[in-house]
Amino acid sequence: MQKHNMQNFTDNSFVKKQALNRLTTFRMGGVPLFYSQPHNYEELGHALRLCRDNNLDFKVLGGGSNLVVDDYELDFGVIHICNPVFNKITAGPNNTVHVGAGVSLRSILRFCKDQGRGGAEFLAGIPGTLGGAVAGNAGAWGSSVESVLKSVITVDRCGETRRLLKKDIDFSYRKADLGGQVITEAEMELQPRSPELVKKLIKKNLDRKKASQPTSKPNAGCIFKNPANESAGKLLDVCGFKGWSLGGARVSDQHANFICNDKKASSQDVFRMIEKMKKAVKEKFDIDLELEVKLWRKDDNAKVA
Ligand SMILES: Cc1cc2nc3c(=O)[nH]c(=O)nc-3n(C[C@H](O)[C@H](O)[C@H](O)COP(=O)(O)OP(=O)(O)OC[C@H]3O[C@@H](n4cnc5c(N)ncnc54)[C@H](O)[C@@H]3O)c2cc1C
Repeated sequence: MQKHNMQNFTDNSFVKKQALNRLTTFRMGGVPLFYSQPHNYEELGHALRLCRDNNLDFKVLGGGSNLVVDDYELDFGVIHICNPVFNKITAGPNNTVHVGAGVSLRSILRFCKDQGRGGAEFLAGIPGTLGGAVAGNAGAWGSSVESVLKSVITVDRCGETRRLLKKDIDFSYRKADLGGQVITEAEMELQPRSPELVKKLIKKNLDRKKASQPTSKPNAGCIFKNPANESAGKLLDVCGFKGWSLGGARVSDQHANFICNDKKASSQDVFRMIEKMKKAVKEKFDIDLELEVKLWRKDDNAKVA
C-alpha cells in the first residue's frame, strides 16, 4: 500500500494542478497526482527525494510526443523538464554542443543550421525534447540519437547528479536504459558542415516525413516498433487498419502505424484500438508487435515508464 503524503508536495512553489491533455501531442491525458516543473537542479533533486521518501510513483515529461495518457485522475505524479535552466544550448570545444534536456529537437536543428553543425539532420520532423529523444533513442532513416551523443547528465532518485558516458548507457532500438534517472543535459558531438548543406538535408528529411506521415490530426507518432526485418505499418496495412476508427480514434489513411485523435478520442478508444491491432497482427503473421509509444495508465505501477 502506498503512503501518499501530498502535503509535502503541494507546499512547493514548483508544483501546480495541470491536466496532461494540454501537454501531449495526442491531446489526451487526465490530472496527475502532482504536476511539477522544477526551476533548477535543487528543486529537481528535492522533488525526487520527496517522491522517494513518500513512496510516490512519478513519470518524467518532456515534449509529450510519444505518450498515450489515461483520461482519468492519475495515480502517479509528473515531473516536467521544461524550465529555462534545462533549455540551454551552447557550443563547447572539439565539436561538442551542450544541450539541456528540455530543448526541442527543432531548436537543436535551428542551432545546427545557424552554426554550421552536421550529423543531427535525421531528427528533422521528430517532435519533442532532447530528454525524450535520449530516453527513447529516437531516430529515423537508419540513424538514432546515440550516434551523435558523447555523454548525458542525469539526476537519480536520491537527487544526485552524475555524468554518464555514452559507452556506459545501454542503447538499443528506440530504447536507452538509464535505470529511471532523469536526464537533464547531454553533450552532443556535431561535425562542422556548411549551413547550406545542413539546411538542404533537413528539408529533404522533412519532405520525406510529410509525404509519409499524418500532419493534420493530433497523434503520438508510431504506435508500434518495427519488428526485425519488417515494417509494423505494412503489417497493419495488410490487416486492413488504414482509415479504421473506434470511437474518436482513427488509424491514419496515410500510415497504418499512426492512430490519430480524430474526434475527441478517449484514452480507452486508443487502448482498445491498440489491443485490436496487436491481436490482428499476431493472428495473421504470428508476430508480437511491441509498443513504441509509452502508455501512462492509471493502474500502471511502474515508477518511470
Ligand atoms: C508526428 C510524430 C512523428 C514522430 N516521428 C518519430 C520518428 O521519426 N522517430 C522517433 O524516434 N520518434 C518519433 N516520434 C515520437 C517522439 O517524437 C519521440 O519519441 C520523441 O523523442 C519523444 O520526446 P518527448 O520529449 O516528446 O518525450 P515524451 O513524450 O515527453 O516522453 C517519452 C518518454 O521519454 C521519457 N522522458 C522524457 N523526457 C525525459 C527526461 N528528461 N529524462 C528521462 N526520461 C524522459 C518519458 O518519461 C517517456 O517515457 C514522433 C512523434 C510524432 C507525434
